[in-house]
Amino acid sequence: MFKCVRISLILNQTAGKRMLSQSNLAGKVAIVTASTDGIGLAAARALGLRGAHVVVSSRRKDNVDKAVSLLQGDSIRVTGTTCNVGRSEDRERLVDMTVKQCGGVDILVSNAAVNPFFGNIMDSTEEVWDKILDVNVKSAFLLTKLVVPQMEKRGGGSIVFVSSVAGYQPIQALGPYSVSKTALLGLTRALAPELAPSNIRVNCVAPGVIRTRFSAALWQNEGIMDEFKKQLSIKRLGETEEVGAVIAFLCSEDASYVTGETITVTGGMSCRL
Ligand code: NAP
Repeated sequence: MFKCVRISLILNQTAGKRMLSQSNLAGKVAIVTASTDGIGLAAARALGLRGAHVVVSSRRKDNVDKAVSLLQGDSIRVTGTTCNVGRSEDRERLVDMTVKQCGGVDILVSNAAVNPFFGNIMDSTEEVWDKILDVNVKSAFLLTKLVVPQMEKRGGGSIVFVSSVAGYQPIQALGPYSVSKTALLGLTRALAPELAPSNIRVNCVAPGVIRTRFSAALWQNEGIMDEFKKQLSIKRLGETEEVGAVIAFLCSEDASYVTGETITVTGGMSCRL
């Protein structure tokens, strides 16, 4: 009997060690875009707490400085720079700086998005579509194109796109934004088989309504929230940490056999089969 207990203890210890080592991101370098607030900041924190050196960025330097000192307060290895993902020179500078200062790139979390338009989709203009597709879709692909050669040099990597529940079910008055988020589901599926031979996994998260500045117009409106809640199994807003943890899982070796996948983080909103 003692022998059985001992064997089971050894197995549990081994499983525990395996669990630790699989989710541990020590030695990895992670670029998270739009990471000075909301879901991006939570993803940077989740990756950093698992040991990754995180590179945070957004358009405004004061936001970058604040995020860097916040993460340093959690004893996270962090480097910050400004980057408007819609600008090619900014994207290139972000990746060059990461390689120079951190030694390479293992993880990309492409999180930035804009929504300059509310209303009937038929009223949206070419300018609106250009802006939304440039920032929400094209920049995600063009950043991927920049980091893949760096990941290949390191023997592999992991890419996560931040889509939205709106990518599955367009939200009324957010037509062009919703379409851009559907495009990210397609981009994930298109890239995954092409990058698998380079040992690069490509996945996506589709958050529901998460408490951030970006979604304040939704969750601060009681009428809209009551309607949303009818569709939820967990009848509350999501928190940024709950999305950050799923992103960190997808970036870790715990997800070593997961690619081309989108995980919805919606409190059970039924948006897909
Ligand atoms: P948030 O809290 O408002 O944070 C937005 C972040 O993006 C800030 O750090 C902002 O900093 C940065 N940013 C904005 N435009 C940028 C640009 N062009 N280039 C680089 N950085 C930029 O937003 P969030 O709710 O976390 O949204 C993050 C992602 O989650 C988006 O892709 C969004 O579509 C998605 N999402 C959110 C929800 C939700 O309910 N919150 C639901 C589904 C999907 P600066 O102002 O300094 O640039």
